[in-house]
Amino acid sequence: MSDAAIAETRTACPYCGVGCGIVVGTAAGRIVSVRGDPDHPANFGRLCTKGSTLHLTADPATTLPARALHPELRVRRADPRRRAGWDEALDFVAARWADIVAADGPDAVGFYVSGQFLTEDYYVFNKLARAAVGTNNIDSNSRLCMSSAVAGYRMTLGADAPPACYADLDHADCVLITGSNTAWAHPVLYRRLEDARARRPQMRVIVADPRRTETAAAADLHLALLPGTDVALHHGLLHVALWEGFVDERFVAAHTTGFAALRETVREFTPERTARITGLAADDVVRAARWIGAAGAFLSLYCQGLNQSSDGTAKNATLINLHLALGQIGRPGAGPFSLTGQPNAMGGRETGSMANLAAAHRDLASAADRAELAAHWGVDRVPAAPGLTAVELFEAAAAGRIKALWIACTNPAQSLPDQALVAAALARCELVVVQEAFADTATAAHADVLLPAATWGEKSGTVTNSERRISRVRAAVAPPGEAREDWRIGADFARRLLARLGPPRAARFDWDSAEAVWNDHRASTRGRDLDITGLSYARLDADGPQQWPFPAGAAAGRARLYADGRFATPDGRARFAALPYRAVAEAPDARHPLSLNTGRLRDQWHGMSRTARAPRLFAHAPEPVLGLAASDALRRGFAAGDLIEVRSRRGTLVLPWQPDPALRSGQAFLPMHWGAEFVRGGVNRLTSRALDPVSRQPELKHAAIAVQRAALPWRAVFAGWFDAAAAGGRRAALMRLAEAFPFALCVPFGRERHGLLLRLAAAEAPAAATLAPFLAAFGLDGDAVLRYEDAPRHRLRCVRLHDARIEAFALAGATAGDGWLLSWLADATAVTVPPAVLLRPSDSAPQPGARAGRTICNCVGTDERALARGAGGADSAGDLLAHWQATLGCGTQCGSCLPELRRLAAAQAPAPAAGAAASIALS
Ligand code: SF4
Repeated sequence: MSDAAIAETRTACPYCGVGCGIVVGTAAGRIVSVRGDPDHPANFGRLCTKGSTLHLTADPATTLPARALHPELRVRRADPRRRAGWDEALDFVAARWADIVAADGPDAVGFYVSGQFLTEDYYVFNKLARAAVGTNNIDSNSRLCMSSAVAGYRMTLGADAPPACYADLDHADCVLITGSNTAWAHPVLYRRLEDARARRPQMRVIVADPRRTETAAAADLHLALLPGTDVALHHGLLHVALWEGFVDERFVAAHTTGFAALRETVREFTPERTARITGLAADDVVRAARWIGAAGAFLSLYCQGLNQSSDGTAKNATLINLHLALGQIGRPGAGPFSLTGQPNAMGGRETGSMANLAAAHRDLASAADRAELAAHWGVDRVPAAPGLTAVELFEAAAAGRIKALWIACTNPAQSLPDQALVAAALARCELVVVQEAFADTATAAHADVLLPAATWGEKSGTVTNSERRISRVRAAVAPPGEAREDWRIGADFARRLLARLGPPRAARFDWDSAEAVWNDHRASTRGRDLDITGLSYARLDADGPQQWPFPAGAAAGRARLYADGRFATPDGRARFAALPYRAVAEAPDARHPLSLNTGRLRDQWHGMSRTARAPRLFAHAPEPVLGLAASDALRRGFAAGDLIEVRSRRGTLVLPWQPDPALRSGQAFLPMHWGAEFVRGGVNRLTSRALDPVSRQPELKHAAIAVQRAALPWRAVFAGWFDAAAAGGRRAALMRLAEAFPFALCVPFGRERHGLLLRLAAAEAPAAATLAPFLAAFGLDGDAVLRYEDAPRHRLRCVRLHDARIEAFALAGATAGDGWLLSWLADATAVTVPPAVLLRPSDSAPQPGARAGRTICNCVGTDERALARGAGGADSAGDLLAHWQATLGCGTQCGSCLPELRRLAAAQAPAPAAGAAASIALS
């Protein structure tokens, strides 16, 4: 297709909080390309692997079969859902909702929304809950990612306002990255850090993380602290700063309160005691404190490692303590800077769309603030008592106190901790409404009413990124079927509900555009710390993304906050938080001796309801595996290929394992993305719903677990290519079919085609009839299939060829050699051995080892095998990386793989070390 035939639309990435600008190419009503927006100040044209493959996840050939295209409802739980019109569906919900509110009160219903919402969506649903229904029971899945950051800012600085900006990376002398694998979770921001380090090699980067992530491996100092000990580390750093005279006494005296109490609190956190608690070397604590204390400008970047904790507020507040004590805030290159996980977590905070917040940073506990809000919305009152937060909503539903739940744009049946509770809640709730773009999420399966929502590329509005920058989101194509923008669904429902509830709830929901909604939100910010009355859609369209605050009459937004030393507290002074160190809520013990950490993969997003549409995004981490320290595995006698039973106090999961050199003994790691849609049970069957006492954020970063070898000797593996339109549905069907197996996983693979890989395990060989539907699903049941069967030993081996290439295969009973066959299948190369060799019993077939391995660079498809053979005589890590870039093209496009390429080059080539390979040209 010629470039001239492609229309372009400027919008924003729907994944992480970096908030990159994207130019979307469309042709014939379809999204056909994406590229980074060179004019967007968050990314200046760069995108990571996820952003640069967005068009693949919007391909109708793949996504349409999975989309929710029409409203569906069921009147009785026992019935299947049937198609309905919008009027019927919304009237049905409004009538049920009104009945429940009338019978049990407004707090018997709740809304669980999403950081994927645009600000306009948030505004409408927040008003719907508080002004139309009269409940504060509205919370966002942002509760799971940044409510501790909100609480930390409010506790110390007085308002939920990240004070720094991305440009501060260019000015910082010392950067502390804590609780964040920025290289994977915020890749484009990490590229910016790499650039800043290359320009200013004197910059020091410290990473505090229990794991040696790609981010940690590239740091000048890695503080591999024990899980949950961050507060002790922060106190220890401040102790050394006090001892060595780094504290800015003038700033403390002029702009803060409460330092005397904090000084007492940190007195006992000597380097030696800090080292005992954190598991660090005392010298490293002192070294980090000296680097931080001596820095002209000190910036900290932090994310879920601090937030997803039963002590997350204290972790945030004690880090901010350090900045305040050193006077490292409100200056270029200085400040505490929380990174948001989702594209519009900030929009949810700004609109107050969380159970304990109020719109435009108002205080729900303040009668004056509530009265202001009620006046703005045209109602007589806004309820005062904080609503139920994410986990609490589901606890209340499981207990029968919440009778109706409206879940929008999020997948709690995958993402909330303690999935047994979530299942109980969704089963007991009288009415579950799910507003979703995709009909195949785990949560959609529980919906009594499914409302089809528009998604990325189809919606217009705004989002705010981590640095308070508001970007316009623009629709590039029309939503499919009858899908509607989220704010329209909320507003339509609100009108129908109000007609039933009647006065005094007379709030208006009659906006005719997203812009009209946004203007309403804008008016609510007048005079607040986040005042955006100087902005408009027209200004954002003309001048591009802008930071808040941007009050009327301002020429520009404010890049960084608190430059004048005045904070958002009643007396203008920041407040030190003298908080004690508390151990993790669920301490490991003899029965559950390991600490399970969950986190992100480089190329996946949340529960993968979007990224799973692009199979190539699985190439970097193809299958769910439990990472364990090699010493812990050795002690337990685990061998390669063993399946491991992972047991927490909430449930059990069976998984493959692998040694993870990033982990210290006593720790385990599992990517957060693997829900029950991909592996039996899903990761959050294990995780804990222990909550932070202030932020009510659950402790997803730690659960005490036990591991043992699973006694499941019978194994089977199936793999094959599928039609793109059928692959997603087939995966869901295969997982349903596999329900009787104690271990089952099914994942996509492939670069140009859509493949599925299914693994099963059981204690005993199943009957042949049990395997028959699996063979049929992979097209391995016909006459043209090569087949070897050893019935007495329950062994089966099938291969289907087309043009001498493997199209599908299955191994059951013994699966050695699966990597060899999978390589041939995935590479789509002609089979070079006689077909009979393919049918050899597994234990005499070629053994695993020929498999391509992980794909390191997803842009050009460079795998570990290619890197291993591509040394090219390079005599240093820098030369080797340059050689790979020149000959293979890897690491020259989005750059997401560069940290890993540098590490691999350093491992393969002689010194100098990886850090020397700094300056890499990106196209
Ligand atoms: Fe999207 Fe990647 Fe940018 Fe995050 S860093 S906004 S995922 S392109």
